Amino acid sequence: MKKWYQLDVERLEQKLHVSSNKGLSTKQVEKRRKQYGENVLEAEKDTPKWLIFLKQFQDFMVIVLLAATLIAGMLGEFVDAIAIMIIVLVNGFIGFFQEQKAEKSLDKLKELSAPMAYVLREKTWEKINSRNLVVGDVIKVNSGDRIPADIRIVQANNLETEESALTGESLPVMKHASAIHRDDLDAQDQVNMGFMGTLVTRGSGLGIVVGTGMNTVMGQIASLMTNTKKVPTPLERKLAELGKILIVIAILLTILVVGLGVMQGHPVYNMFLAGVSLAVAAIPEGLPAIVTVALSLGVQRMIRKKAIVRKLSAVETLGCASVICSDKTGTMTENQMTVKEMYLNGKMLEVTGDGYNIHGDFLINNQRVNENYTNLESMLLYGMLCNNASLQVKRGKYFVEGDPTDGALIIAARKFGLKPVAGENFRIVKEIPFDSDRKRMSVIVEDDNQMRFLITKGAPDVLLPRTTYLMDEEGRRILKPNDKDKIEQAVNSMADKALRTIAISMKPLSKEDSMDDHFLEKDLTFIGLYGMIDPPRKEVKPAIEECRQAGIKTVMITGDHVKTATAIAKRLNLLPDDGLVLEGHELNKMSVEELEDIIEDVYVFARVTPEHKLKIVKAFQENGHVVAMTGDGVNDAPAIKASDIGISMGISGTDVTKEASSLVLMDDNFATIKAAIKEGRNIYENIRKFIRYLLASNVGEILVMLFAMLLGMPLPLVPVQILWVNLVTDGLPAMALGLDKPEDDVMKRSPRNPREGIFARGLGFKIISRGILIGLVTLIAFMLAYQNNPSNLIYAQTMAFTTLVMAQLIHVFDCRSENSVFDRNPFENIYLVLAVISSILLLLVVIYWPPLQPIFHTTFLGLRDWMLIIGLAAMPTVLFGFTKK
Ligand code: ADP
Ligand code: MG
Repeated sequence: MKKWYQLDVERLEQKLHVSSNKGLSTKQVEKRRKQYGENVLEAEKDTPKWLIFLKQFQDFMVIVLLAATLIAGMLGEFVDAIAIMIIVLVNGFIGFFQEQKAEKSLDKLKELSAPMAYVLREKTWEKINSRNLVVGDVIKVNSGDRIPADIRIVQANNLETEESALTGESLPVMKHASAIHRDDLDAQDQVNMGFMGTLVTRGSGLGIVVGTGMNTVMGQIASLMTNTKKVPTPLERKLAELGKILIVIAILLTILVVGLGVMQGHPVYNMFLAGVSLAVAAIPEGLPAIVTVALSLGVQRMIRKKAIVRKLSAVETLGCASVICSDKTGTMTENQMTVKEMYLNGKMLEVTGDGYNIHGDFLINNQRVNENYTNLESMLLYGMLCNNASLQVKRGKYFVEGDPTDGALIIAARKFGLKPVAGENFRIVKEIPFDSDRKRMSVIVEDDNQMRFLITKGAPDVLLPRTTYLMDEEGRRILKPNDKDKIEQAVNSMADKALRTIAISMKPLSKEDSMDDHFLEKDLTFIGLYGMIDPPRKEVKPAIEECRQAGIKTVMITGDHVKTATAIAKRLNLLPDDGLVLEGHELNKMSVEELEDIIEDVYVFARVTPEHKLKIVKAFQENGHVVAMTGDGVNDAPAIKASDIGISMGISGTDVTKEASSLVLMDDNFATIKAAIKEGRNIYENIRKFIRYLLASNVGEILVMLFAMLLGMPLPLVPVQILWVNLVTDGLPAMALGLDKPEDDVMKRSPRNPREGIFARGLGFKIISRGILIGLVTLIAFMLAYQNNPSNLIYAQTMAFTTLVMAQLIHVFDCRSENSVFDRNPFENIYLVLAVISSILLLLVVIYWPPLQPIFHTTFLGLRDWMLIIGLAAMPTVLFGFTKK
């Protein structure tokens, strides 16, 4: 049997029952999907649920607790033993569900950033999730794409791929579409095939899918490979370290409490169980898990704001961003280009009509120009031929499929009455694609009479040096310096109005002429200029302002003309009066050190290529900045990778940049970056909030026991009570803090220092001071009750237990603000209110429901008791509310 690469295209199409200009039918697709399944590599086996559940109990102290409980059970303390068991079990379930939740939201993320494929079915091109590809599908691949399945290439325009994922060879491979007749070729020699998972680094191509999912070359390798693990974020790592220290402290303190207790004459066994419970309660073993949950909940909120986080650690880094380097076109602007002016025959024409409306006129000095105006039709025709976009209609509205710059040229041609012509009267023989390095695009066209010519369009300052002739009303002639000046003036006048400029030129060719790129794109004949408007997105200006207040500098990076860029930057209020604008050619001459010296004053980088972006990132980073950098093209990937927060575009971005990035903007919008930063700051603040809450609670719990032992008093809390506090009072409200809204001034503070520790900005003091007070008021409640009624220890313990719980539930509101509890509306966070209410209800049940009283060692409390409890419990929070420390 012949291999795919040995077949010529015709045989291939026959074999797969498809034609490369129609694609498969819906029926065929359905049938094949049933037959071969989805186009995915089989994921590694998930960890079974029961194992995740068991993992919740692997914690050392929990095991000690279970052992201790077992001993208690054997000694006849059934009630205590069972109560403790149940609490430990419930705790395990909660941990389990948290983990599941985090897992699910991460899965959802993967789904959202799934690769897409551009496929021809039922004669129409559509974008689908790559997993839905089937054998026989006709797909298009472009530079920057990851090839979504194994394909046999049937058309290649300068198509190059990088196959190191398969072959280890990182040099690009040039691809073609003809059959290869040799036998037994390795993957790297099959140069008319494209392989799943490899990258298109240049050009574009058309291919027919010949293998999907595990039936691909990649699939065979994948079945041998093991999967990568989730890496912890910096914060998770810091917390894990902190956790270890806290364990030691908690155990030492527990030993102290137990030792003191035994010395005071408490039974060893009682003290042992109390100590172990205390250790379990005091060790914030759940902290890393809650942090992960908070991070992933934050990630979900970001998704709602159209920002997809690809790396969890980015959520943390976002809050530290101090510079945003953003593309102009499409990110700060609408990317809805409209040709407003045209320059030809040495005159300026105005083009009317807005957006993608296909009606408009061509005016000179407000007079409509004649249909036969020299060169107008040919200029518009060339613009339509040297073009990769297409105009489509959906529900009666026109929209552009493809590059908006190209789309604008099609719309302009439509206004003149031209219909798409390529394929009918003209045939595209070859294309040299546009990229941001070349800043130009060319096609070789053959007309009905087999006459060939080249059309090149691109940035005027790139094209002019390659231009020797000029076309005007008199015909073709040599381009004189004087003509050049006039063209440059026209470019400047367009650019000053924030118009994006494109020059268009042509060159007659004969069949014998070389097809070499270098030969082709020179000695061109200048035809004219297009000036197109791309209005700024209206959300961007306020977003830039908000960033400024948040201490974040916004920098515009664009391949556009310096004047166009400056004009737009001024409109966006991005460029201050003394701000600098740098151009690519100036950057070339500068070393990174020289750039570092001035970069703080630079707000716009114009006419840059993707390589410059890397230099810009480095210079900012050397100055101590945390840099967010956007990009869409293949060549942007290195800069995106080097930046602290790489941002790619969901709509216009290529697979390569998406993979290199840690954040994807679903709407390509600058304002979304700001929203994500705000969310990132908020998530970090929320994590600080519950760390503060949990640790202060733990300090309080340990201290009340320690104080009591020091004073030679009975145990103020029994083990079940301690465990109950740990489960109910600590758990629920802490989760709710993770959902807290940001404080009003989150975007008024300067960015957080990425090296700042967990206890920075006074958090350590807050934890210790509140913790001491919580411990103290609990002890006071216990002592007062015990002195009044020494024979009723249960009553005193109930008082202490209730005071501790209430003090924590009031303190939780304190944790919502960096300043004072009185700064915030306590009812704002509905989850927190519900968490507190349900904790109080559970507390009431434990105190007042007779069957539970013996289990939790509680008794009825009266109104006067409650007044005392509330008064004491409110103290830690109210007192510090006034000091603002
Ligand atoms: P940016 O995305 O920052 O606006 P680009 O690198 O896309 O910058 O474009 C730089 C210049 O290249 C533009 O100012 C324009 O003159 C030219 N250009 C842009 N798109 C095309 C295209 N599709 N074909 C030819 N030239 C283009
Ligand atoms: Mg662009």
